[in-house]
Amino acid sequence: MIKVTCFAGKRVALFGLGGSGRVAARALIAGGADVTAGDDQAANIATAAAEGIPTGDLASADWSGFDALILSPGIPLTHPVPHWVVKRARGADVEIIGDIELFVRERQHVCPQAPLIAITGTNGKSTTTALIHHVLQSAGRLCDVGGNLGPAVLGLSPFTPERHYVVECSSFQIDLAPGLDPTVGIHLNLTPDHLDRHGTVQNYAAIKEQLLSGVPRTGLIVCGVDDGPSEAMADRAEMSGARVERLSVRRPVSDGFYLDGHILMRARAAAATFAADMSRCPALKGAHNAQNAAAAFAAATHLGLDDEEIRQGLETFPGLAHRMERVGRVGNVLFVNDSKATNADATEKALSSYETLFWIVGGKAKDGGITSLNGFFPKIVKAYLIGEAADAFAATLGSAVSHEICGTLERAVEAAAHDAGLAAGPEPVVLLSPACASYDQFPNFEVRGAAFREAVRKLPGVTAP
Ligand code: ADP
Repeated sequence: MIKVTCFAGKRVALFGLGGSGRVAARALIAGGADVTAGDDQAANIATAAAEGIPTGDLASADWSGFDALILSPGIPLTHPVPHWVVKRARGADVEIIGDIELFVRERQHVCPQAPLIAITGTNGKSTTTALIHHVLQSAGRLCDVGGNLGPAVLGLSPFTPERHYVVECSSFQIDLAPGLDPTVGIHLNLTPDHLDRHGTVQNYAAIKEQLLSGVPRTGLIVCGVDDGPSEAMADRAEMSGARVERLSVRRPVSDGFYLDGHILMRARAAAATFAADMSRCPALKGAHNAQNAAAAFAAATHLGLDDEEIRQGLETFPGLAHRMERVGRVGNVLFVNDSKATNADATEKALSSYETLFWIVGGKAKDGGITSLNGFFPKIVKAYLIGEAADAFAATLGSAVSHEICGTLERAVEAAAHDAGLAAGPEPVVLLSPACASYDQFPNFEVRGAAFREAVRKLPGVTAP
């Protein structure tokens, strides 16, 4: 754990006692802060109290004595409406920050030279975070990974100058981290998401851009340029005089990395040279993963790794669970768990990576549903609809795609496995890529993915992929 000493002797209110909130409370207490913690749920308060975290009634507290409110990123700061605790803090002019802000202030305080690599974007954050961690570790660097992926940032190892911190940052976390100042700041892409919490896409984009604006002059900004808002961010960063590496998987760029077929190229002024062969990276299938690999290449180069070390890391990356994860095979039918695809944009990546598809889709639909995926409909032999979105998705598929409302995931796996087993073609794929949140039927996407794996495991004749 990292002790947060920069609040020593100060009074701090902390709200939201889930995993990262409790770690933050312990880190502040260990650093000498006087913490009063709260939560809307009695069970969370009880867990915190049992761990020795001082809890109190923040609704009736005198806020004039607090120096800061440490807010969990899950709690509404601005939209749909600010939470009552946010209003109390604002009313008393108390600053509102999150655990990543505590992390960066402490780093500035005790060890500013420890490299910090911060990653954001609508899609690809976790893959890129895990990939950079893997590349750095394979090259022998001391490296911790956390934030939105893995342990809370304040649960990572104490700062030392040679330790690298690879931190995934959601927009909610960035919104609470005005001092975020990474050595390498990475923004991958931007499509409308989480608008219930950010109001407008402009506001959402502005929050993501904060991660880039905080990169110091000696640092590096890495920015995808395949969507308009992200390209505009790269332009603004460059105009401000920062060092920017641009990433594209759609067209050549003059400074940065781009994809040419399955080859990742590095462009410098007038010349382009070979960086990596993506066909040698089995866990990084698809153009979207080439964008993640390009970000890792740019970051690792800035941190001093040579090209061969980086290629080794990309080629040996094991991949992450629930992201186009190959979970089993029956005969020539491959079963792929892409439960993490909770929006149409993420599902598009999986649909574009395979040819003969038996597609399990549905859950709690996002705005726009699956309408944007109609270009892939000809590849889909049949769709198996689950969850709340089933009727609406059936209407979207209409007569263009044969489909069946299955209701549950288990029923969908059985039906898809049966149909795919009869299919022609070299490798029919049964793909769970729901394009929906999981909350209507599962606690989260991990449990949904595990249920898919389990249903596949029960199929007669199943083998490892
Ligand atoms: P995040 O942490 O941002 O949610 P993940 O790395 O967990 O991203 O990937 C989630 C899903 O997003 C993947 O299953 C894939 O479908 C899609 N995805 C991954 N990388 C990218 C990318 N660079 N661009 C667009 N989509 C991506």
